[in-house]
Amino acid sequence: MTTIEHTEAALARRPQLATAPASPFDDARAQLREAVTILGYDDGMYELLANPRRELTVAVPLHRDSGEMELLIGHRVQHNVSRGPAKGGLRYAPDVTLDEVRALAMWMTWKCALLDVPYGGAKGGIRIDPRRYSRSELERVTRRYTSEISPLIGPDHDIPAPDVGTDEQTMAWMMDTYSVQKGHTVLGVSTGKPVSLGGSLGRATATSRGVVHVALAALRSRGIRVDGATAAVQGFGKVGRHAARFLADAGIRVVAVSDQYGAIRADSGLDIAALASHVDSTGSVIDFVDADAITNEDLLAADVDLLVPAAVEGVIHAGNAPQIKASVVVEGANGPTTPEADRLLNAAGTLVVPDILANAGGVIVSYFEWVQANQAYWWGADEVETRLAERMLSAWEHVSAHADKLHLPLRAAATCLAVERVAQAGQLRGLYP
Ligand code: NAD
Repeated sequence: MTTIEHTEAALARRPQLATAPASPFDDARAQLREAVTILGYDDGMYELLANPRRELTVAVPLHRDSGEMELLIGHRVQHNVSRGPAKGGLRYAPDVTLDEVRALAMWMTWKCALLDVPYGGAKGGIRIDPRRYSRSELERVTRRYTSEISPLIGPDHDIPAPDVGTDEQTMAWMMDTYSVQKGHTVLGVSTGKPVSLGGSLGRATATSRGVVHVALAALRSRGIRVDGATAAVQGFGKVGRHAARFLADAGIRVVAVSDQYGAIRADSGLDIAALASHVDSTGSVIDFVDADAITNEDLLAADVDLLVPAAVEGVIHAGNAPQIKASVVVEGANGPTTPEADRLLNAAGTLVVPDILANAGGVIVSYFEWVQANQAYWWGADEVETRLAERMLSAWEHVSAHADKLHLPLRAAATCLAVERVAQAGQLRGLYP
C-alpha cells in the first residue's frame, strides 16, 4: 500500500488546469487526480478509479397521452463496486448527459466510502423535463426505464434513490416494476420510497438535516455564532427547502433563496414556512411577498456568513467565485463548485465543505432504509435522526482533523480519505483473473 505523500510538494505537482473544465466529469476527474497525486498512487490506479466499472445507455420509448410516440434516452452508470453494491440517485432533467451521470456516480463512490456505508457508487439519468409530462406519462417512462436497466439493479447489485426531478413516487414505481418482474415484492431495490411502502422515517429530510449538521459545525469552527448568522440557499427543491427550514430553526437568518426561475432576498430573514406554501401553490420562489427580486448571481454574491448551493453542478465557477463573500460554503448540491473556483475560494480563505461530506445525509438514511427493508424491521424517527447526526458529525470531525493534519482543504482531505478506502478495498480483493 502506498503511503500518504501529501505535503506542499505533492500539491505543487498536481496538474494545473489552464481553462475551466468542460463537464462535471472533468471536474470529478480533476478532483480524483489531485487525491491520487497526494496519496502517491500510480497512473494505473488513477485510470482504474477514473473510469466507470459499467454503464448502460437505454432507449425509453413512450406513448404520450396524445397518442404520439416519443423516444427518450436514459443511462445507468456504476462507477465502482469494490466496497459493496452500487448506490446512487436517478435524475430526470432535460440536459442530462452521460458524462454528468458518470461524474455523479463517481462522487457517490467517494461519498459512500467517506461515510463508511457499505456501497459503491452509481447514478442514473433520463433526458426529460418532468414538468412537461403528465403523471401517467412519468409512470410509463419510469417503468420502462426500470425494466431496461433491470439487468443492473437489485438489492444486492445497485439501489437507485431520488435525485433532481424524481421523488418517492418514482422510487415506488421502480420498486413495483422490479418486483413484478421478479414475482415477489423486493423492498430493498430502491430507497427514498414512501414511508407507507417500505420507506424510512426521516429519509425525505435526511440530506437537508445532514447539510445543516455540518453547516453548524463549520460555522462554529470559524468562530461564527450560529444564532444570528446569515445564510443564502440556492435551490428550493428537496434539499434546499428543508435546509433553509432547519437553518432557520437553528436561529440562522436565511436572507436569500433561489430556484431555476429566479431569486429573492429579504434582509430581515425569509419566513421559510410561508415561502414553502408559496412555492407549493405557484411552483417558484419568485413573487414571494415581503422579499425583493434578485438574480441567482446576486444570491451567490450575497454578503452572508453561509452559502448553501443546493441546485445543480458547476454554478460556482472561476467567473463568479471572486464575488463570493460567504465565509463558509456548504455544498448541498453535487459538484456545485468547479476545481478552478475551489482554488480561488481556498486562496481567499473561504471554508468549502465538499458535497461528498455535506450532502451525505441522504445516502446515510437510504442505507438505513435498505437495512430496515432487508430485515423487515422498522426504526423510529428518533433512532434514524440520532444515528444520522452521529454519522455526519463523526465524518465532519474525521475530515476536519485529516485536513488540519495534512494542511489540505476539506475537499482534498475528504477525497483522499474516500479514495484511499476504495483503493484499499480494490487492492485487498485483487484483480480477477
Ligand atoms: P430537486 O429537483 O428537488 O430541486 C432542485 C432545485 O434546484 C429546484 O428548486 C430547482 O428549481 C433549482 N434549480 C435548478 N437549476 C437551478 C439553477 N441553475 N439555479 C438555481 N436553482 C436551480 O433536486 P434535489 O433533490 O433538491 O437536488 C438538488 C441537488 O442536491 C442536486 O445536486 C442533487 O444531486 C443533490 N443531492 C440530492 C440529494 C437528495 O436526497 N435529494 C442527496 C444528495 C445530493
